[in-house]
Amino acid sequence: MAKRDYYEILGVAREADEKEVKRAYRKLAMKYHPDRNPDDEDADHKFKEASEAYEILSDSSKRAAYDQFGHAGVDGQAGGGFGGGGGGASFSDIFGDVFGDIFGGGGGRGRTTRGADLRYTLELDLEEAVKGKTVQIRIPGHTQCETCDGSGAEKGSRPEACGTCNGMGQVRMQQGFFTVQQACPTCRGAGKVIKNPCKNCHGTGRVQEEKTLSVKVPPGVDTGDRIRLSGEGEMGIDGGPPGDLYVQIAVREHSIFTRDGRNLYCEVPISIVDAALGGELEVPTLDGRVKLKIPPETQTGKLFRLRNKGVSPVRGGPSGDLLCRVTVETPVHLTKRQKELLEEFQETLDDGDGNKHGPKKTSWFEGVKSFFDEMKF
Ligand SMILES: [Zn+2]
Ligand SMILES: [Zn+2]
Repeated sequence: MAKRDYYEILGVAREADEKEVKRAYRKLAMKYHPDRNPDDEDADHKFKEASEAYEILSDSSKRAAYDQFGHAGVDGQAGGGFGGGGGGASFSDIFGDVFGDIFGGGGGRGRTTRGADLRYTLELDLEEAVKGKTVQIRIPGHTQCETCDGSGAEKGSRPEACGTCNGMGQVRMQQGFFTVQQACPTCRGAGKVIKNPCKNCHGTGRVQEEKTLSVKVPPGVDTGDRIRLSGEGEMGIDGGPPGDLYVQIAVREHSIFTRDGRNLYCEVPISIVDAALGGELEVPTLDGRVKLKIPPETQTGKLFRLRNKGVSPVRGGPSGDLLCRVTVETPVHLTKRQKELLEEFQETLDDGDGNKHGPKKTSWFEGVKSFFDEMKF
């Protein structure tokens, strides 16, 4: 059976804050607690399901992993490490230094607005994406004005309740027979006015400031992966919680390798002689050179698999392979002597039963012949 979405289990929105998650869980836990529902398997299942959902969603780093990767990101996380066994560091270790506790404050009072989420595209080389890296990024944003502590009012003064709407933010207007309520024109709905605006932030309570963040990119990421830095988005308004920063990974094209999931591909040109007689080549991997044996009579396009020379995926699981596709090259800039040798060689091929040295050629000619025969004109 497919695992249900944790948010769906708790019946909360994806943006739900810590308090809402806790409230939803408490309600379900009370309802389905085994003490209250003895011998009820369905209740027992629901109780366990809710507890698991709560364990993940109440932990900001597990929740981030879940938000990004779904169940795959947190499987076996009921008390375990990210990806299990393999790499060592758990997901929360990896992101620990940038995930703050964003859900602590705020909540419940007044008209607060959560800050906007930000997106940052981080370009990486293939090697960096495969091996992981800590990157310093600079992002523009707003921080609370230090002069007025974010109030927007000049030092020593405070925002005052708006006289027009008595701090309600809304006024009633008579329009013909109707009374309509609308945002107060004096305070534009804020409910308060600043008589002496702070000179540093012009009354907005925030100042523009570039900040530098350290982002730990775990090994194995690929284009399209996102790293969520909770609370590193735009600051909230009127004490609201900050938004999140999403670091979107974009891996640059590599001159030798192309990547498809956990596998890497590369093209290896070989000479017609190596292809025919066999030989040994040096091929590049992300960990350095390795030797690749080419058996005699190798055809162009043949794939050779170098096990575990691909990528260890960020979500865990076995490493991929490096697949080398050989292309047999036609020699160029031939000398007179070389041409003679090839002509001589050609004559030996044309002896007797003709095409036995070209494995594809016989069937190819036959195919072309029957193609022409079948054409009705
Ligand atoms: Zn007002
Ligand atoms: Zn200020």
